[in-house]
Amino acid sequence: MKVLSVTSELYPLVKTGGLADVAGALPLALKAHEIEVKTLVPGYPAVMRVIGKAEERLHLPDVFGAEVRVLEVEHEGLDLLVLDAPALFDRTGGPYLDQNGADYGDNWKRFALLSKIGAEIAAGAIEGWQPDLVHAHDWQAALTPLYMRHSAAAGMPSVITIHNMAFQGQFSSELFAQLSLPGPAYMESLEYYGRVSYLKGGLTSASAITTVSPSYAEEILTPEFGMGLEGVIASRVGDLYGIVNGIDASVWNPASDPLLVENYTAASLRKRAANRTAVANHFGLDDDDGPIFCVVSRLTWQKGMDLLAEAIDDIVAAGGKLAVLGTGDAALEAAMRAAAGRHNRRVGVIIGYDEQLSHLMQGGADAILVPSRFEPCGLTQLYALRYGCVPVVARTGGLADTVIDANEAALGARAATGVQFSPITADGLRQGLRRAIRLYGDAKLWTQIQKQGMKSDVSWGKSAERYAELYQRLVQKGH
Ligand code: ADP
Repeated sequence: MKVLSVTSELYPLVKTGGLADVAGALPLALKAHEIEVKTLVPGYPAVMRVIGKAEERLHLPDVFGAEVRVLEVEHEGLDLLVLDAPALFDRTGGPYLDQNGADYGDNWKRFALLSKIGAEIAAGAIEGWQPDLVHAHDWQAALTPLYMRHSAAAGMPSVITIHNMAFQGQFSSELFAQLSLPGPAYMESLEYYGRVSYLKGGLTSASAITTVSPSYAEEILTPEFGMGLEGVIASRVGDLYGIVNGIDASVWNPASDPLLVENYTAASLRKRAANRTAVANHFGLDDDDGPIFCVVSRLTWQKGMDLLAEAIDDIVAAGGKLAVLGTGDAALEAAMRAAAGRHNRRVGVIIGYDEQLSHLMQGGADAILVPSRFEPCGLTQLYALRYGCVPVVARTGGLADTVIDANEAALGARAATGVQFSPITADGLRQGLRRAIRLYGDAKLWTQIQKQGMKSDVSWGKSAERYAELYQRLVQKGH
């Protein structure tokens, strides 16, 4: 089977979050199921720099006023179709934000173009390669299924995956006229309280909707998590699937990870100590017995970072230490810096994005904190499980699905892999932290939890199989 994946991020080329990891790892995992994936990704500078010699597969002189080329190249096992449109993607900032952190004013056009070209390829624009199905990711690619419905690819099945319902791609309805869609598509598919919602366009047009964990698939049917689109989701509930993300087990493997000071396995956990010392040194923390908690996260309300800021003094008072790596809201960055200022050698904060350091933290910290208010899947707790870094997580979405709480029953059955807390408040988090610190005090129990976590199946194996089954079903059924 041939699948076109359409995404605005792709590890290892361009990443702002979990979407990139999934878009980069799933095609590799699907190879085992004889599914050939080509991935359409924008030609940002970071992509254009590394692709080297690429073959031009499509040239369109004017789409939405931009000259567009599609270049095909293989990169680290991925078959890429790079959308080379310098007028829209050759920018010095990030994929969505300019250097000052503001949204590009023409994001509506940039990602409409990505989707439009996805639909063109679905309709056979690339000579000699015709996909059987299209898989679009998040709002940035969400118009692809809609454009397909209004093209020669109208009968082809499509899947849209929601990685985070909070990001919907809403724009002024005045732009609709510029999207090259037939008039009725506005009310039928896109209209959201008088605006245009790209995500809604995908949710109403795709053959199937997936989200990245079973719990989140249920949660988005409720007003609290559905972010205003719960009604749309409810109308498609028969086509809704929750498939938990896996991780790329070759990139995230403590036995071979070159970014660790010392490699280790569950059988040689003691060697983690060298990584722990390295983390303590890097963050300027005392290298004493108290547990090192770490955070690798966007510093945002969604991630519960304000709750963490409230609980930091308690971590320190209970003998714990904290290493924070993240960027995000200015106020939360300031709160983290202030905590580091208050707690010399007990709290270390690095404001920034550092993929390499994140590996060392997973391989050295004793526990990772993920106090998200909502979490479609979450990847950091999955890396943590594999690295024997015990996850302390809010009981929500993918966190609830992937971490087994160390309650009495689970501990008795030797099944526990971490700590879940609820309610998701500062007090709930404090309670979770207290439990984690108590467990850490029992070295034997703590090692048991670490080892059990390292045994968890966090690979793409089962999840890739579920995607493969879904694709097969949709292709057999036709749209
Ligand atoms: P989200 O996609 O909502 O941000 P996920 O947990 O699904 O959350 O994925 C986040 C990804 O980004 C993980 O791979 C995590 O390690 C990485 N990440 C987040 N912040 C940083 C950071 N400051 N430095 C390095 N990696 C980070």
